[in-house]
Amino acid sequence: AAQPETLEFQSEARQLLQLMIHSIYSNKDIFLRELISNASDALDKLRLETYRDKDLEADTADLHVELTLDKDARTLTVRDNGIGMSRDDVVNLIGTIAKSGTAEFLRKLKESQDAAGSQDLIGQFGVGFYSSFMVADKVTLTTRKAGTTDGVRWESEGEGTYTIEPVADAPQGTAVTLHLKPADDEDHLFDYTSEWKVREIVKRYSDFITWPVRMAKQASPLDAAEEGTEGSEERNEPEFETVNSRKALWARPSSEVSDEEYQEFYKHISHDWNNALETVRMQAEGTFEYQALLFIPSQAPMDLFMRDAKRGVQLYVKRVFIMDDCEALMPNYLRFVKGVVDAQDLSLNVSREILQQDRQIRAIRRRLEKKILSTIKTMMTEDAEKYATFWREFGRAVKEGLLDDPENRSAILDISSFASTHHAEKPTSLRDYVSRMKEGQEHIYYLTGESRTVIENSPHLEAFRAKGYEVLILTDPVDEMWVDGVGGFEEKSFQSVAKGEVDLGGDETSDEQKAEYEDLLKWMSATLTDSVKEVRLSSRLTTSPSCIVGDSGDMTPTLEKMYRAMGQ
Ligand code: ADP
Ligand code: MG
Repeated sequence: AAQPETLEFQSEARQLLQLMIHSIYSNKDIFLRELISNASDALDKLRLETYRDKDLEADTADLHVELTLDKDARTLTVRDNGIGMSRDDVVNLIGTIAKSGTAEFLRKLKESQDAAGSQDLIGQFGVGFYSSFMVADKVTLTTRKAGTTDGVRWESEGEGTYTIEPVADAPQGTAVTLHLKPADDEDHLFDYTSEWKVREIVKRYSDFITWPVRMAKQASPLDAAEEGTEGSEERNEPEFETVNSRKALWARPSSEVSDEEYQEFYKHISHDWNNALETVRMQAEGTFEYQALLFIPSQAPMDLFMRDAKRGVQLYVKRVFIMDDCEALMPNYLRFVKGVVDAQDLSLNVSREILQQDRQIRAIRRRLEKKILSTIKTMMTEDAEKYATFWREFGRAVKEGLLDDPENRSAILDISSFASTHHAEKPTSLRDYVSRMKEGQEHIYYLTGESRTVIENSPHLEAFRAKGYEVLILTDPVDEMWVDGVGGFEEKSFQSVAKGEVDLGGDETSDEQKAEYEDLLKWMSATLTDSVKEVRLSSRLTTSPSCIVGDSGDMTPTLEKMYRAMGQ
């Protein structure tokens, strides 16, 4: 037989493993959820693959997950007969971390010294398979890809290297065996060889998994006694029992589903370790039947603003998992929404291309979008604190919708809020801004810039301050992009305080003043001729001697800077 080969973990993987080994995360139970979730994914993938590839030689007769406990050896094995992995798969999927945002995650983790901060970060990131090393000091994974004959065994203690070798007789699918760390006698709650404990974890975290999760029944003392007298040999084959109830949560009446079940389901599909901020359910009957169970997370994922950020909605057809990251079901600016849409009348063979063009899918997407927007609107009026969390985490993404989705623009403006001169920390809705507008004030004034401090120190603000006009402080890059296109909110147009001749009414400069400053202005115009178009007397300043303004049609300075940075 071939020698086991020793390979090194990629450096980011090594760092993550160190974190797991010295686990700073207190809820270790979730390792089992991660392994069962991987097994369930593997079964989904196999079923889907057999629909796509009729020639695939795979055994799909009894797809399931199986848990085996061995008290004496102190091992726990999670086995599935799903898609399995080739040798290359194992090296690429288990030996490295391909997730976007890993580097940033690790950098932030280094920065946040306190354990609580680290827990939050881990929750945001989700660590999957590696969480095994929170409870195991050695992990053995044996796998064979469906349709192939070559099995592989992978083994590691999580410390820098792993071994990999071919095995001859591996069954289809994957078995992960955890060699559990020495028992903590003080605390039986962490005994993962206890049937009771494992059963409880499965019920709590994986009850809705649609595949059966089976566990070997441990012989009761009574059985053992019988076995002694009769000497039955069948006792070697353990009897298996299905532990989870397997009910698709989205298909159950909402009155029967507890908040906790929703949250566990959310964690399963999102790989988030924190609770969702909001749960949204939808049901449509009639010509095009579907059910949707959507979640708004309580924290933005690391990759929210990365190019390859995933969209979080999964598509099922009649309870069969079809695809992750279904972009046809959710507009890009709501990419943080997670969940499941189960449609009744689609083919199991649908492709992403077909979905993009499907009229009914587009109709579902429009309804989901409206529903999410109205949910946020309700949150805004009924739970200000929750809404504040939402906006802090996702506001920047939502504002992209102002550009991308003209059809829902006013609904998006309605659920948006902005920093303003009215309050030092609390952002304001446009509705509130309008309600505070001064007599005679016609526009919603704003100023864009790099930061609040920069904007607050801008001479442009002086006259507005003096008049008591509130000004929105827009500091996100995306703000530059939408303010020009959007026009206004409820008849009030947006107006930059840095552009054109802002007419604040009243105190015009007098002819006398004009005459007095004429020579100076001429001289300045001549001197600055290469830099500015015109030098004029203004009433907009109160304490600063001068400021630079743009023409009404001009780009804002920040936008100009952005374009320059892009080389345009
Ligand atoms: P995630 O599940 O978020 O992708 P994991 O760390 O849990 O991250 O798993 C990494 C990858 O390893 C999975 O995406 C999958 O491709 C592969 N994998 C893990 N467990 C299994 C399994 N039981 N069967 C097949 N592939 C698996
Ligand atoms: Mg996983």
